[in-house]
This record gives sequence, C-alpha cells and structure tokens, in this order.
Amino acid sequence: MPELPEVEVTRRKVARMLVGRRIAEVVTTRDSYVFLTRPAVLAERLRGRRVEALERAGKYLLARLDDGARLLVHLGMTGELGGDGLPGEAHTHVELRFADGGPPVFFRDVRKFGKVQLLAAGERSARLDRLGPDALHARGAELCARLVGRRAPIKAVLLDQSVLAGVGNIYADEALFEARLSPLRPASSLTPAECQRLAAAVRAVLRRSIARGAGYREEPDDFRVYGRGGEPCRSCRRPLRRVVVAQRSTHYCPRCQRAGARGASARRRE
Ligand SMILES: [Zn+2]
Repeated sequence: MPELPEVEVTRRKVARMLVGRRIAEVVTTRDSYVFLTRPAVLAERLRGRRVEALERAGKYLLARLDDGARLLVHLGMTGELGGDGLPGEAHTHVELRFADGGPPVFFRDVRKFGKVQLLAAGERSARLDRLGPDALHARGAELCARLVGRRAPIKAVLLDQSVLAGVGNIYADEALFEARLSPLRPASSLTPAECQRLAAAVRAVLRRSIARGAGYREEPDDFRVYGRGGEPCRSCRRPLRRVVVAQRSTHYCPRCQRAGARGASARRRE
C-alpha cells in the first residue's frame, strides 16, 4: 500500500503535469466503488476547469481547481496517478485530457481500492476532517495532545490517522526505533520530551524515504527494523523481535527500545 512518502513523491511528480493546465475532457470507466462522485458528474464538473495546485493531506491527494472545487484522489492499495497510463485500458478509471492538446494524466487502479471524489467549493469531507496534523510536519506538542488518555500501545495509536495523518505500518516501526521507544508503551505514558523525539523521528524517516524516491519500491535494506524480525539490530547487534500489535506486524529491538521509565533510567546509567 502506498504510504505517505510515495504519495508525496507522486504529488511532486504529477504537480508538474497538472498545475496550470485546463481540462478539456474527462474519460472514465463506468460507475464503480472507485467513484465517490458519479463519473458523469465528475466529467461534467471538471470540464473547462484549470488546475491551480496539487496538494496532499495525509495519504490523500487534492487537486485544487480554479472554481474552488477540489478533486480528491486516494491511491488505495494499487492506485497510480501519472502520465504514462494506456488510454482505454480497463484499469484506467480516469483520464484527464487537456485544452493544450498535451499529454493526458491518468488515474489507474488494478484492485480498485482507490477513491476519486469531487468536492465543491467550501464542501467539507468527513475523510479529511478526521485527519490529525500531517505527519511530515507534525510537532511534538501536537502529538502529545493527541495521546492523552490513550492507553493502547503507542504503535497502535500512531496508526490512527486522527493522531498523525499519513503514518503507516512501516514508518511507525522505523520512527519508534529511531526515537528509542518501545512500540508496546502505553501511548499516554510518553513524556513531552519523548513526544518531541517521536515527532522528530517520524518527520526524519518520512523525509529520508521521500529523498530516496519513496514508497513500496524501497528495498528491505532501506529499513532499520521493519521486516527484519530475528535479524541483528543495527545498533546493539541483538536480534530484533517481531510481535503483532493491533493486528499489524511490528518490529523492534527489545534492548534499544525499552518500555517504561525503568528502561529509560537504566539506559541513562549505561
Ligand atoms: Zn538494538
């Protein structure tokens, strides 16, 4: 599944193909659960509109149009937005053709878990309203405020998109390792200093992934703990552990990422 870095890399790439161009025609597949706005309505309302910006909120992409409307795209599991689709191909659900006669932009999705929706000017979206601060920019204080009263393990709470928007399974594990926090710690037990450390680690692992070109094309070598259960920790050489938290596989170093205050004070003595 595309995580935030892949969505951000897509945004930067597709913005260059989209922004400033006027849509002349929209070709879609027939109505399906990909379309939160019916394809006929989508085609009619996009025609003649100019794209002013391509923005991102968590894992959603939002094309802002010159009439104030926004085209929301979620890539789901296998969605792709870009310029190199095949016209008329069965998995190309939306093709945007432009008034300048230049190359079209395609939304393609083999498994159809992706979503496309047109939000009218000023229209709110429950999907966007429930997102917390964007993980790429989130500050420690914002994170801390959202952990109050949350006794579930920090790993599970980090995956809640209302806490930080855009943190997925891979980057939650990587950030907790970088912040030296056990994924099993009750979220509400994090101190303000630990929240700062975790927010900084989340930003850092996402930025590194974006700089590499990002997302599910990354190699296992790019990760320090994710997918490496049983392998030696890169810091202390002891075996990494794999456990299941909130039904998601979770990888961590039981030595470097100790749980609780006792672990923290023991570490200080070392
Ligand atoms: Zn370790």
